[in-house]
Amino acid sequence: MSTTAFDVIIIGEGIAGLTAAGALAKHGLSAATFEQQIFGGLVLNINELDPAPPGGEAGGAAFAAEMTQANAEAGVTSIQEPVTAVAAADGGFGVTTEGGGYRARQVIVASGARLKMLGVPGETEFEGRGVSKCADCDGPMFQNETVAVIGGGDSALQEAQVLTHYCGKVLLIHRGAAFRAQQRFIDRVQANEKIESRFGTTVEAIVGGQMVEKLRLRSAAGTEEIPCAGVFAYIGLEPNTGFLPAGVQCDARGFITAGDTLETAVSGLWAVGAVRSGCGGSLADAMAEARRAADAVAARLK
Ligand code: NAP
Repeated sequence: MSTTAFDVIIIGEGIAGLTAAGALAKHGLSAATFEQQIFGGLVLNINELDPAPPGGEAGGAAFAAEMTQANAEAGVTSIQEPVTAVAAADGGFGVTTEGGGYRARQVIVASGARLKMLGVPGETEFEGRGVSKCADCDGPMFQNETVAVIGGGDSALQEAQVLTHYCGKVLLIHRGAAFRAQQRFIDRVQANEKIESRFGTTVEAIVGGQMVEKLRLRSAAGTEEIPCAGVFAYIGLEPNTGFLPAGVQCDARGFITAGDTLETAVSGLWAVGAVRSGCGGSLADAMAEARRAADAVAARLK
């Protein structure tokens, strides 16, 4: 088993992890980023970053690719292996992946979050056959058709807007009585004639044959089935934390509690970005706290 050692291991190559790694390299520290799938994290599927950070005007994938390239040039090691465990050992940390074992003096957890699933019949069955997690990638498949977006937060409203570029009609289905997204997203949705919002409504099942054909909805008026070719659920996020060592504290939803210092209850283990409880939710927030954690780690290691 490999025992390659770094000053700092950063878990996750989303925008927060890439930012932290770049900042650590500038401090002259050896840094390695670990990624289980592909660099970019949640923004990989977002073509229109809103607001776009400087350099992010060409969309999430291009932004992440540029940061990855810059990190490589600055000497950051990128390792495409899923992290399975982190353990405090010998005054530092042992990081175990599916490919081997590594050591670091400090660890920054920037493993992000994944989209929550609705958990209704048909959702898994029709994945890739009408059920999608990416409006930008799959929207073009629904030219002039009716699709449904589920949720009432920033993601649902932003992605509903994206889908109107392709679809004939977007049903925006929200369980609550009012959206809790940023006002500018609400204004855009309300002004878009292709979007029909339904409140107080939940999805009971996704129904179809070869492909999605209908949604079964429940509201105070009872249940109804509505024709619909695509279903995009944006109902919030679940943190990626399966590898955490004992002692790290999390909130009731499983997001890491690190507070303002960004250091977790385990000394030397930091958390930034979407995996951290209380992260502001914008890219700018995630990048700012990633830089802050990198500075704090660098100060600790001097
Ligand atoms: P979110 O803010 O947690 O909103 C999730 C929405 O889904 C809520 O409206 C919630 O309803 C609903 N929901 C949750 N579970 C549900 C279920 N089982 N069935 C039906 N509906 C359900 O998630 P998000 O919109 O993905 O945003 C995540 C974070 O990223 C937020 O901090 C957000 O501000 C940020 N974000 C920012 C931008 C941007 O700045 N451009 C874009 C996207 C996301 P209730 O309202 O009833 O709880």
